[in-house]
Amino acid sequence: GFGALGFLLGGFLSVIGYLLRRRPKPMNARLRHALQSNQLTMVFQPIVDLHTGRMISAEALIRWTDREGRTIPPDVFVSAAEKNGTAGEITAYVLRYVSRIAGPLLRDNPELVITVNIVAADLSDPKFYEILEQIFVASGIARHQIGLELTERSVAEQDVAIAAIARLRALGHPIYLDDFGTGYSSLAQLHDLNLDVIKLDRAFTNSVGTGSVSVSIVPQVLEMATALGLRVVVEGIETDTQYSYFASAPNHCYGQGWFISKPLSYDALVAFKAEH
Ligand code: C2E
Ligand code: MG
Ligand code: MG
Ligand code: MG
Repeated sequence: GFGALGFLLGGFLSVIGYLLRRRPKPMNARLRHALQSNQLTMVFQPIVDLHTGRMISAEALIRWTDREGRTIPPDVFVSAAEKNGTAGEITAYVLRYVSRIAGPLLRDNPELVITVNIVAADLSDPKFYEILEQIFVASGIARHQIGLELTERSVAEQDVAIAAIARLRALGHPIYLDDFGTGYSSLAQLHDLNLDVIKLDRAFTNSVGTGSVSVSIVPQVLEMATALGLRVVVEGIETDTQYSYFASAPNHCYGQGWFISKPLSYDALVAFKAEH
């Protein structure tokens, strides 16, 4: 009966569980190998001024396709690397990659910014600051052209974050708070952090045109950001309704999302920039 079946299934699952636990951190071993053998690439998603349609920046997003042709989502392997203490290697890889590949575009467009996602551990890692020194020596890229995206979670250690952000801004890097609205930042905390830009999480964007309640707080969030002197990038714009909602908002917004452009190869980004 079911009892016997359940017993067999339970045994089977615990054997599988044992085997999985016994393997030496498979994700991180594969990730390290992928980093060393250049299996990771970057795509770039344009960010436009919603009033003019002009591209003012782009977000660098990492992509991993393993040798079996499987893609591993970045949030999965980045958080695995964070747990294992190796996420700094991803940041180093991304900074080097971006400064190498995007040099021509950034030199041709001195106001253009490329943003890179960093992790909490970077903020107190001397290697992170060393790499930031190195990549600007030969590249001809200005500091203000590399923006750094931090999540609310990564600024949870308030004192560390305040000091690190001050240091990075003094070097010239614009600081972006990613996925804003998904964490628990208070107004006062936002003010103390001294950010340049907040990226409104796409949960808010999705609420536009769906009748969801969270749409009713969007105008206040935009108003508050403006009052704090922060620029706003609206994430995840997928429809023309969402685009026009934020384009006609009383507070000036920038936007990113599939309706504007999917993440692009570097060559496609250069072509997009030529048209925007
Ligand atoms: P994120 O930094 O919030 O990046 C935005 C994510 O939203 C990207 O997913 C992007 O492809 C996706 N997206 C953009 N427009 C739309 C849209 O209109 N609709 C929807 N549904 N999604 C949209 P992606 O590339 O899968 O990255 C997921 C997360 O992984 C990122 O979230 C970031 O937290 C992390 N990540 C990606 N690349 C890197 C990296 O190079 N370093 C680090 N540390 N983290 C990264
Ligand atoms: Mg981001
Ligand atoms: Mg985001
Ligand atoms: Mg996100």
